[in-house]
Amino acid sequence: MCDFSNYITLTETAASQITWCKGCRTFSLSYKCCCASFTEIEMRQFCSVLRELRGENYSYMFNDKPHTIIKGPCGYIGFCLSEEDTIELIRLTSEALSIFQAFKIIYS
Ligand SMILES: [Zn+2]
Repeated sequence: MCDFSNYITLTETAASQITWCKGCRTFSLSYKCCCASFTEIEMRQFCSVLRELRGENYSYMFNDKPHTIIKGPCGYIGFCLSEEDTIELIRLTSEALSIFQAFKIIYS
């Protein structure tokens, strides 16, 4: 775990946050009660998996609502998402990746 001064907050809402750690060069995504770390490639892959989800993928009933379960970057932790969660995560991950691109241009 790196010193918190290494973390840059890329985007956040009341229930979520995406940070970049300058020390170990990874993204951390906190969403509701889930937290996972991603490399840049893993974050881009996660974002494209979210974009490919369609109505028929939400076949798991949880809290009386259809959900889908997708794997995180380390296979044993997954995300259980409703369609609204997916829309919110697409917005967050896209925003974080755009801001990250801007940081790379500024600091490289
Ligand atoms: Zn770190």
